[in-house]
Amino acid sequence: MASVRVAVRVRPMNRREKDLTAKCIIKMEATKTSITNLKLPEGIAGDTTRDRTKTFTYDYSYDSSDCKNSTFVSQEKVFKDLGTDVLKAAFEGYNACVFAYGQTGSGKSYTMMGNPGDAGLIPRICEGLFSRISDATRWDEASFRTEVSYLEIYNERVRDLLRRKSTQTYNLRVREHPKDGPYVEDLSKHLVQNYSDVEELMEAGNINRTTASTGMNDVSSRSHAIFTINFTQAKFDAEMPSETVSKIHLVDLAGSERADATGATGVRLKEGGNINKSLVTLGNVISALADMAQDGVNTNLKKKSVFVPYRDSVLTWLLKDSLGGNAKTIMIATVSPADVNYGETLSTLRYANRAKNIINKPTINEDCNVRLIRELRAEIARLKALLIQGNQIALLDSPTALSMEEKLHQNEARVRELTKEWTNKWNETQNILK
Ligand code: ADP
Ligand code: MG
Repeated sequence: MASVRVAVRVRPMNRREKDLTAKCIIKMEATKTSITNLKLPEGIAGDTTRDRTKTFTYDYSYDSSDCKNSTFVSQEKVFKDLGTDVLKAAFEGYNACVFAYGQTGSGKSYTMMGNPGDAGLIPRICEGLFSRISDATRWDEASFRTEVSYLEIYNERVRDLLRRKSTQTYNLRVREHPKDGPYVEDLSKHLVQNYSDVEELMEAGNINRTTASTGMNDVSSRSHAIFTINFTQAKFDAEMPSETVSKIHLVDLAGSERADATGATGVRLKEGGNINKSLVTLGNVISALADMAQDGVNTNLKKKSVFVPYRDSVLTWLLKDSLGGNAKTIMIATVSPADVNYGETLSTLRYANRAKNIINKPTINEDCNVRLIRELRAEIARLKALLIQGNQIALLDSPTALSMEEKLHQNEARVRELTKEWTNKWNETQNILK
């Protein structure tokens, strides 16, 4: 069991806000973030003053508003706190997920992708992954397989951002695998062997994303981008084969101003009431999961069966496991510091506050053959112990002991066979990678 971890990050004032001589209304202190409503009068005792400034506590409150501040939080610091946890999870065989949530222009893409020379979480995580891989391969016999894919969800349709030919790339089907869950049919997966392989794909995908947005009225603020790393690790651990798979989703969400079905902003009216179904559903899923966790806390209350509407949108369906399921999940809520964005910022802070309550159940994703080998070996050890016991009380020639010995030999043969198959499979993979 692990709570979703939540970070809030405030960016510097942008040109527009400076031109409007906007005031800074966000204050951060340790893990606390406060927002002040400048429209309410200052200094009156009682309820009004309490309302004027609202304070929230998160796992992290990142002040990136002014690089001259001593408390300034850089891309490097965000990676050190959050990115290294993602890497740790990946190497332990857990799924991991990072969401960036916030209004358009608040710093989601900056935090996830970053700018040239000022890399964000995704490139840093990929770089870190390969630097750890090269450390591990230098010291022991571990083998790795890394694949990436990159997609965009726009108007509930899925587009592959890594297909060279752009025809027929919108509208990929989302299907469900009986064991592995929801997936995108025909989504391209790219085997990568070093960071520059990833960099190339990332750049191609980002260009693909922006090209579409110039043609189609700001697609990037209305679309969700999901960068996925499939990471498999195989090694012998005290002569036991071990193989784990970790899926890492790094998600740059659509601008949160599209999440509100009721607040008819100018932008929304222009879109003809076309609200972002995936973003609205994400909000509903988070609320349902947060309610469920609260029920868990109040154990004396009768447990409601809360319905979680994962299937209502493409985003939530694809990321089902990362939301209240088998993953270590992080949400980064990005906000503007300016008073002119008070409403959107407050709603982002509240949203992030709700997400804190979600509890996930991450488990290590172990290869099923490897698990079988481990179980058989445990059984062999048990049988051996029983036979030794039997020996001591001179039962060795009894029919039970004989059948036990037979079983033991069968199991040993099966383990040898499975281990050989598994080793061959990995040798083949390594030959392909070479
Ligand atoms: P979003 O993806 O949420 O729409 P962006 O990440 O594109 O927003 O950010 C909008 C602009 O603000 C970009 O020019 C970006 O470089 C800049 N920006 C955002 N966050 C920061 C930050 N923490 N430090 C410096 N510049 C930032
Ligand atoms: Mg963006």
